[in-house]
Amino acid sequence: MNNVYFEGKEFARSYILPYTEMIDKESIFPEESFKKLNEKGFLKLLIPRQYGGHGKGLEEHAQACLAFAESCATTALCYMMHNVAVMCVLAHGSEELKEKIFTDIIKNGKFMALAYSEFGTGTNFYISGMTTEINGDYTTFNGSKSMVTSATYASYYLVLAPSVEEGKINNWVFPLETKGLSFEMAKWNGLGMRGNSSCPMNIDHVTLDSSLRIGEEGSGEEQVFNVVAPFFVTGLGAVYSGTAAHMFEIASNHVVDRQYPDGRTLSNIETVQVHIGNIYKHAAAAQTITLEAARAGANGEADALAKILAARIVASEAAIECGRLAMRVGGGKAYNKALPTERLLRDAYAGQIMAPSADVLAVWLGKALTGQMIP
Ligand SMILES: Cc1cc2nc3c(=O)[nH]c(=O)nc-3n(C[C@H](O)[C@H](O)[C@H](O)COP(=O)(O)OP(=O)(O)OC[C@H]3O[C@@H](n4cnc5c(N)ncnc54)[C@H](O)[C@@H]3O)c2cc1C
Repeated sequence: MNNVYFEGKEFARSYILPYTEMIDKESIFPEESFKKLNEKGFLKLLIPRQYGGHGKGLEEHAQACLAFAESCATTALCYMMHNVAVMCVLAHGSEELKEKIFTDIIKNGKFMALAYSEFGTGTNFYISGMTTEINGDYTTFNGSKSMVTSATYASYYLVLAPSVEEGKINNWVFPLETKGLSFEMAKWNGLGMRGNSSCPMNIDHVTLDSSLRIGEEGSGEEQVFNVVAPFFVTGLGAVYSGTAAHMFEIASNHVVDRQYPDGRTLSNIETVQVHIGNIYKHAAAAQTITLEAARAGANGEADALAKILAARIVASEAAIECGRLAMRVGGGKAYNKALPTERLLRDAYAGQIMAPSADVLAVWLGKALTGQMIP
């Protein structure tokens, strides 16, 4: 893969966009797109070449998520979570775990998901209220996770659970078929991102051996802040930048197409031109800061954290603002759902509440810029 953004955009037009409306309407996971993501090598984007992957990093992760979100926010979000989970296994997993999971992704088209958030701790997803009981090499887990994107479709779920070391957590891999694992799909009824299947996961006396723990005992928090955070927060920035860009495309086409009986189009009206300019401005700002944050993160630059946090906030807010303005210029067509604008606006609303929420990130950004501890 040479230019992931352009290849991703082309891929999305052929294999993601055709399903975008249907997966929202029927609230079903984009299975066909995921089969193609496997066939065309996007599921192995971040897996190193030595395991048979493409060996790409944070910048290409952002480019792929951005490109996919320009066609479908839901599919981009599910894909983004997979990449984050892959990075955790890569950065902290044992060689045995890497071989097992990467082979399953590359050879069998399996993919991964993140089961972190809980009903109790909500947006503070790195604090787990689950219970764990150790018995020799085995650990038994009880508890539940509140919203798990790609639930029942992903083959491996990363689960944060308390460590035996007081106040610490572990990051575990729960294979889908594990005894005691169940999902409540009937409880997924999201406003937007409806193809995500983000339903609760119940963990009832699930017993795993320690080979499925990622990294050293008690290293979960380090993984969350060093691996999950950069890839997840940058990835969210890319997903919502792409959503904003998609809104610009829909709105700018509509104002040219919409013609009055006297021959004038919406695009001839100055107020509408200003709205289109503002939609473009927000979408372009979100995309620019997100790609810059990914670049800074990939190069380990000193201000990368601040840029990554800022990018995610800018992108979440831009997507909602672009949706508000796109609904305005879209008029009755947008309101009556002849345009996909309302779907995009519903998708955009997930951005501000997804953990760590835009409010939490605003606090973290202030802390990062003033040299304080995060969180
Ligand atoms: C589409 C979608 C997909 C998701 N997929 C996943 C997934 O795959 N895996 C996963 O683990 N989770 C997932 N989630 C869950 C998500 O990331 C959040 O954890 C969850 O939505 C937070 O839920 P809550 O209602 O308990 O938030 P609460 O903790 O009740 O927070 C609600 C709001 O209160 C404010 N707030 C709370 N605490 C603070 C604070 N300290 N500082 C400032 N403001 C604060 C914020 O405005 C926040 O948005 C998904 C969510 C959505 C919408």
